[in-house]
Amino acid sequence: MAKPPPAPSPEFLRKVAEAEVAQFPAKGGRTRSADELLHELQVHQIELQMQNESLRQSQLALEESRDRYLSLYEFAPVGYVTVSCEGLIRQLNLTAATLLGQDRARLLNRRFAGLFIAEDRDRWHRLILTVLKRQDSSSGEFILQRGDQERFHVRLDCRAMDGGVVRASLTDVSAWKRAEEGLRIAAVAFESQEAMMVTDANSVILRVNQAFTRVTGFEADEVIGKTPAVLSSGRHDKSFYLRMWQALREQGFWQGEMWNRRKSGKIYAEWLCISVVCAPDGRISHYVGTFSEITQNKEAEAEIHRLAYYDPLTHLPNRRLLQDRIGQAMAGSSRSGHHGALLFLDLDNFKTINDTRGHEVGDQLLIETARRIQAGVREGDTVARLGGDEFVVILEDLSNEAQNAALQAGLVGEKIRDALAQAYFIGEQRHHCSASLGVTLFQNHLEPVEMLLRHADLAMYKAKEAGRNTLRFFDPAMQTAVEERSSLEADLRLALERRQLRLYYQPQVDADERLIGAEALLRWQHPDRGLVPPGDFIPLAEETGLILPIGLWVLETACANIEAWSASPILRDLRLAVNVSARQFQQPDFVAQVTGLLAQTGANPRRLKMELTESMVLKDVADTFGKMHALEALGIGFSLDDFGTGHSSLSYLTRLPLEQIKIDRSFVLNLPHSVNDGIVAQTIITMARGLGLDVIAEGVETEPQRAFLARHDCHAYQGYLFARPLPLAEFEAFAQHPREDA
Ligand code: C2E
Ligand code: MG
Ligand code: MG
Repeated sequence: MAKPPPAPSPEFLRKVAEAEVAQFPAKGGRTRSADELLHELQVHQIELQMQNESLRQSQLALEESRDRYLSLYEFAPVGYVTVSCEGLIRQLNLTAATLLGQDRARLLNRRFAGLFIAEDRDRWHRLILTVLKRQDSSSGEFILQRGDQERFHVRLDCRAMDGGVVRASLTDVSAWKRAEEGLRIAAVAFESQEAMMVTDANSVILRVNQAFTRVTGFEADEVIGKTPAVLSSGRHDKSFYLRMWQALREQGFWQGEMWNRRKSGKIYAEWLCISVVCAPDGRISHYVGTFSEITQNKEAEAEIHRLAYYDPLTHLPNRRLLQDRIGQAMAGSSRSGHHGALLFLDLDNFKTINDTRGHEVGDQLLIETARRIQAGVREGDTVARLGGDEFVVILEDLSNEAQNAALQAGLVGEKIRDALAQAYFIGEQRHHCSASLGVTLFQNHLEPVEMLLRHADLAMYKAKEAGRNTLRFFDPAMQTAVEERSSLEADLRLALERRQLRLYYQPQVDADERLIGAEALLRWQHPDRGLVPPGDFIPLAEETGLILPIGLWVLETACANIEAWSASPILRDLRLAVNVSARQFQQPDFVAQVTGLLAQTGANPRRLKMELTESMVLKDVADTFGKMHALEALGIGFSLDDFGTGHSSLSYLTRLPLEQIKIDRSFVLNLPHSVNDGIVAQTIITMARGLGLDVIAEGVETEPQRAFLARHDCHAYQGYLFARPLPLAEFEAFAQHPREDA
């Protein structure tokens, strides 16, 4: 503001007044004194001063208002940009420069369009042209780019101004846009697949989405204003909700499975997550619950559980669940002191029914069996199906005295056995299918579950052995026998590779006690058990299949001996008999094996004799015939061992390429006193002679036995009377001097 001229001093005014009076003593017909004039001047001066002051005041006000306007302009909440008709920035306020992220000086005279993203430039050009052309205003939303390439949304309100320029006001709407986007997402999210429910702090429902209606069956207007209690299934107790509210208070969040009730009344399972929404002051303002239905998962879970623990055919617990239940029953018994029992059931002829009547009938029979067993036990007792035709029953809470408990278990077992022995009517047919039962008692849980099952199983086998449709209790002696057998089996597997097998040779002599041959008999030199006779391990070897490598070893050893003996004048004419087991003989490549062995050892097949038993010959007659003929063609002879003990069919005997029949030891034993045995022995000899076969008696221990046999035309013998089975060296020594060693 321009400063007013300084006020004249009083001395200066007096001088001016005196000069005026001196020059114009009278003015307007009146004379004035200098004082009067001075007074006038002073008044005038005051007036002037007042005028000056008011001028200064208005100037000040003007300046203030201009400043105000300027700062209003510069710091306005919106940016102002004045754009020329060529599109250049002619002016802009500080807000605009800040918004555009650049110095004002650098922005001036730049093309405003250069600040728009490429896609928006055309629209901007059209807008400014329209505004200029129509001399009015228009607005639009655009995306601009800051110096640092950051994009932001602006709203441009443009107005045509004098001088062919456009004043555009810029409002940054990015935050608003983001909020709008957030709202849009929230709206979409709210209508998502998950059911949602928003309540106020008092659990009054404010909003639900469509998925909520889908799951619960309630429309929004049916639940808004109510509490979620409308969905309550009544399946959760108070403590469930207490825990839920506690979690919400302490963690602001809860999730879990919840059973709720639909509008239709049907109960369903849902997975519910509840979040607490707090106001800025920290107080709870809302609860947001989202949930999805898991009824199907639950049903699937139940189905999986059913499949995992129950037998699909009979719906009885399966082996897995049974093991669990046995464990529980054992624990229960050790707490209460009561005995429990395990009943192991196996149907006696189920396989035959299943094979001959079809699986459909088999299935029906199993279902009926399950029903009958269940009917025979108490409610709490477990009946399980182990698989196939095997069932197990757990009886609990029997007496705490073993004998009484056995009595109780036996009674239940007999009742079940009896029920199962009754005829089954399936379709039009009547079927019979009894069961064998094994029972074992338990009173504590010292034994593993598997062991208990094995005991019951063993007892069941004893019941089978005892003729089926019967019940047997487990006896520890059974266990010992089983353990013995399994340790023997483990040892036998190693016997061959550890060279523990031996061949002994028992001489065979003629009427003049001349050595005519020998039978090779197997022994097992066991490190702890000593020399184990074949009767103790051959049946096991047959069961386990170990007889195959063992039998091959026997044949190979025998052939090697034959070949070794061929150089000795005394031994070279001997026939060596080897026992061949059924399983060994049934191998499809048995003939090839023997051919191979003969070639390998160079043994003369005519010196080799195979001892077969009646039962094995009759097992698969066609196959046996074929093999015997093939082997006979190689030069090998056959002797029928243990004759008289089996069920020989004479018609077969005549067709077999046999050379010899061996009278079993059991018929020789009581000769000559036993009239019956005498008749049997005689008959065998006569029959053999009739068929043109040789006959030899085994187990000849006494001279009267030999004499009897000789009298009845049997002139070949094997037995202790002549020699026991001997190790190779001893046998060879015996061959040199038979009579002395006998
Ligand atoms: P086996 O073939 O009937 O053999 C005759 C058995 O009677 C032999 O018993 C023999 O030692 C015995 N023995 C012979 N003379 C007398 C006697 O005067 N009195 C008495 N008390 N016994 C006599 P071993 O050696 O214990 O053989 C038993 C069975 O084992 C044999 O009966 C045979 O079936 C089987 N066996 C032996 N070695 C083999 C083999 O290498 N392979 C196969 N598969 N089985 C064999
Ligand atoms: Mg024999
Ligand atoms: Mg025999």
